[in-house]
Amino acid sequence: MQIARTTEELRRLVADARRAGHAIGFVPTMGNLHDGHYSLVRIARERAGFVVASVFVNPTQFGPNEDFARYPRTPDADAGGLAQHGCDVLFLPSVETIYPFGAQASVSIHVPVVTETLEGAIRPGHFDGVATVVARLFNLVQPDVAVFGQKDYQQLLVIRRMVRDLAFPIDIVAAPIAREANGLAMSSRNQYLDAAARERAGAIRATLEAMRDGVGAGSPFAGIEAAARAALEQAGLVPDYAVLRKADDLGEPAPGQRGGLVALIAARSGMTRLIDNSLL
Ligand code: AMP
Repeated sequence: MQIARTTEELRRLVADARRAGHAIGFVPTMGNLHDGHYSLVRIARERAGFVVASVFVNPTQFGPNEDFARYPRTPDADAGGLAQHGCDVLFLPSVETIYPFGAQASVSIHVPVVTETLEGAIRPGHFDGVATVVARLFNLVQPDVAVFGQKDYQQLLVIRRMVRDLAFPIDIVAAPIAREANGLAMSSRNQYLDAAARERAGAIRATLEAMRDGVGAGSPFAGIEAAARAALEQAGLVPDYAVLRKADDLGEPAPGQRGGLVALIAARSGMTRLIDNSLL
């Protein structure tokens, strides 16, 4: 595996791969990689002869009181893991490479509508930062296919919408959610949790399953959502939301709707925010 730190290095490696006839697959990450990330690399490998992964902790997608400064940074371990999982190039850009005019003075991409609810409502500006960095990374890497985790479901919708609206010639592939043994969705932020908190956070997945069962049983949505919040609180978590939404645009579902739904949860364990979801 090669490591590219500058635009020139990256472009040269990608151009060589293209000349050799390879399609380019891309997996953008913020690093501190776990098996969830590596599953994205595997999927990219299946779809493209040449795989680029990026590690960039993007300042513009963190709010002023969020964990940008303490976000775990483990570049050596990430490089080792990516090499093992068949990544061809690790792109490790500097902030200057991504934001040549500075993070505060960059062109910003706002994807409307789908960003207005849930994470977008709770984390103002977060998805502007995500769309902006992903657009920039797409222009740097110029992949044919890019893989994103379903774990960040709203982010996936934001990226799909941006790609369609701005006509990026890139196929967006969703990867299933990788989980710990107790059902907790893998996340770099899980390491903020001690063993007991990790165990309790398994309630998030169990609650998503209960929501699915409630929908299957024909229960009213408001009752399902209230029971879900209570179950999370019971497990010592503080829910930000536990909701049923339309899977295609996160709008409110019609009362009798049974298909095309997604259950989404965001809950806090102490200072740590955890998100998860399940397509129904
Ligand atoms: P992050 O490094 O957290 O920005 O995540 C980079 C990519 O990995 C995003 O597309 C995430 O959705 C994806 N990802 C993170 N955790 C998981 C997981 N547990 N399962 C599948 N994909 C994941």
